[in-house]
Amino acid sequence: MTRIAFIGLGNMGGPMAANLAKAGHTVTGFDLSHDMLKAAEATGVKPANVMTEALADAEVVITMLRKGSQVLTVWNDIIRSPAKDTLLIDCSTIDVDSARKAHAMAKQAGCLSLDAPVSGGTKGAAAATLTFMVGGSEEGFARAKPLLEAMGKTIVHCGDGGTGQAAKICNNMILGISMIGVCEAFVLAEKLGLSHQALFDVASTSSGQCWSINSYCPVPGPVPSSPANNSFKPGFAADLMLKDLNLSQEASLLVGATTPLGAAAAQLFGMFEKQGNGGRDFSAIIEMFRQRT
Ligand code: NAD
Repeated sequence: MTRIAFIGLGNMGGPMAANLAKAGHTVTGFDLSHDMLKAAEATGVKPANVMTEALADAEVVITMLRKGSQVLTVWNDIIRSPAKDTLLIDCSTIDVDSARKAHAMAKQAGCLSLDAPVSGGTKGAAAATLTFMVGGSEEGFARAKPLLEAMGKTIVHCGDGGTGQAAKICNNMILGISMIGVCEAFVLAEKLGLSHQALFDVASTSSGQCWSINSYCPVPGPVPSSPANNSFKPGFAADLMLKDLNLSQEASLLVGATTPLGAAAAQLFGMFEKQGNGGRDFSAIIEMFRQRT
């Protein structure tokens, strides 16, 4: 069993740390929020009053924070006095550039490191069914895999440091674009007098099929589990989709990739968020197309 320090016990980190503890690992957690620490304690995670207390003796340190600047600040503290052979794993969704900086810092301190962002949301975190997209060395991946398996179902080694984050933002750029395409098609169908169910029955079995229609249809009825049947309660909140689309645009600019539909999707989700919809499920963007038409 492994001694793990888990930093960032929020909506995702809390249940992930709980699953590691449930699997029999010794998990010491730290979060700036006292409430999150208390909640984690109730799930078998040992709470630390300060981060250094969690780090002492840890063989593996996992971070689950909101953004790149937080990860760099926390990793900067971690690598000051790492225990020998410490493996650092960042599961946050952050920009590829910060992820690569974090890897460089760890390497300088003699630590193995991985970027391992996740897909699957809070439900997947609670049920230990997350997908992990992992960037870093084979050696780091081999050490991390059994731990990631306690928190997830699908674990993919994507390549060198930073490629986990690259996979995450490319996947979510596809998702943001495809959801907009599906929403536009359903709004057009409404104007043409075509029922939701008829469009679903055709497109979900034809060349229009994709996750946004087959599993997460943005109108009520065809897929009973989709947020459209539940007043667009997330699910995956629109502000998180916007964050990921902005990360993909930053990355595109940095490497000179041409992503015009990604740029349009970021702009549309930006408008949707400005209208006060950031906390709703991202598929609720269909309502904006109804207004616009
Ligand atoms: P969250 O805000 O609920 O959790 C982040 C936690 O980090 C908070 O509890 C905060 O107090 C803590 N924190 C911040 N700075 C800290 C520090 N210096 N030391 C210790 N703790 C600190 O966010 P979340 O929803 O858990 O998301 C975490 C990451 O996972 C994000 O990058 C997000 O994009 C990604 N993600 C989220 C979801 C989702 O559905 N929520 C799905 C996939 C990926």
